[in-house]
Amino acid sequence: MAEAYDPGNIFAKILRGEIPSQRVYEDDSVVAFMDVMPQGVGHTLVVPKAPSRNILDADPATFGPLFAVVQKMAVAVKKAFNADGVTLMQFNEPASGQTVFHLHVHVIPRFEGVPLKPHSGQMEKPEVLAENAGKIRAALGN
Ligand code: 5GP
Repeated sequence: MAEAYDPGNIFAKILRGEIPSQRVYEDDSVVAFMDVMPQGVGHTLVVPKAPSRNILDADPATFGPLFAVVQKMAVAVKKAFNADGVTLMQFNEPASGQTVFHLHVHVIPRFEGVPLKPHSGQMEKPEVLAENAGKIRAALGN
């Protein structure tokens, strides 16, 4: 049986506005914000508002709107940082590397020859996250 969803997880708090985030996109069903421990410049998290731990317990109806925004953000971060490519990552349960138990997709701009930094590594400076968020919002045309 799937583990229960915990509404006290950090992304649920971000979705409820209880803790701050650098939001770059929001619609009725999906939010995107900057990862505080980016694995590369412009590392963005795309998060459905509907509660689920991960892909194992999510309502399949979540995926259409979620992946429409994942694509939108992939295009935006590639443009914002003049990247060569974009990596998507998505983890399910601790054994896979998941650390926050609300479904999300990582969208990371990639540059030829530049490896990813470690997962959940170092905190980025708030002003750098704010500057990068501004570039993504500009690329989205907001
Ligand atoms: P996971 O391992 O669950 O796929 O990834 C969780 C991600 O959330 C990690 O990349 C980590 O850096 C990021 N993260 C953890 N805590 C916070 C937070 O409080 N705010 C934001 N914006 N990102 C977080």
